[in-house]
Amino acid sequence: MSTTEEHVVKILSIQPVTHNVRSYRFEKPAGYRFHPGQATEVSINKDGWREEKRPFTFTSLNEWPHLEFTIKSYSDHKGVTNELSTLKPGDELIIRDVWGAIAYKGEGYFIAGGAGITPFIAILRQLKKDNKVGSNQLYFSNKTVSDIILHDELDSILGGNAHYIVTEGGDSRYKKTYINKEFLLAEIKDFKKPFYICGPDKMISDISKILTELGADPNSVVFEK
Ligand SMILES: Cc1cc2nc3c(=O)[nH]c(=O)nc-3n(C[C@H](O)[C@H](O)[C@H](O)COP(=O)(O)OP(=O)(O)OC[C@H]3O[C@@H](n4cnc5c(N)ncnc54)[C@H](O)[C@@H]3O)c2cc1C
Repeated sequence: MSTTEEHVVKILSIQPVTHNVRSYRFEKPAGYRFHPGQATEVSINKDGWREEKRPFTFTSLNEWPHLEFTIKSYSDHKGVTNELSTLKPGDELIIRDVWGAIAYKGEGYFIAGGAGITPFIAILRQLKKDNKVGSNQLYFSNKTVSDIILHDELDSILGGNAHYIVTEGGDSRYKKTYINKEFLLAEIKDFKKPFYICGPDKMISDISKILTELGADPNSVVFEK
């Protein structure tokens, strides 16, 4: 990962997405482009925060006039995401070179946990725009229904191929389970298709191990240690 570029960009708007997730739209530097699924190192342009760089994934499309991040804030410690939750339009971020996190390689299975949905938001928005959503399947796991990021939009892109799993809470419309071997064997029709996995460390390592045993070759990104 190189960090030769640095751009100071002004936040244009901030919208709530869930109780702890916000979308941040901000200025796009001239000629700045990325592939859906790519990320950059971000810091806040304020004293004490400029060197605190954290990776975030673009959820906008290249043809939009602005850039967008969709960010989950952790308020239990005073890190960058907590500080991001205090920002207002007009405040500034510093963004850097784009780098590959996860890339689309064809129709298959997306498995996301929490904020791990963000690279898939970019990829799915692009597929929808290109009329290429096809029979891609999404399995999106969260603690509760209120944690599901962009539920309506994911439904509108994927229809019945968006599957939600919650690990806590009793809403019977949602599968209450963990994504384990039994679940994958019941749900997955073709283990030779591409698998894209993104989420917390433990979820990725557990699911990748099972998928590899079942003959798959998963493409994964760890979002939280
Ligand atoms: C390639 C990539 C792309 C990403 N894209 C996105 C994205 O688009 N949207 C998004 O929301 N996230 C994304 N993430 C995750 C995001 O980078 C992290 O949530 C962020 O770096 C956390 O920064 P922080 O300063 O708030 O937490 P840090 O202080 O850096 O802590 C990192 C993690 O350690 C744990 N932790 C550390 N200290 C404490 C503490 N005192 N109490 C409790 N927990 C603690 C937390 O689990 C936390 O997530 C991405 C990660 C990667 C690797």
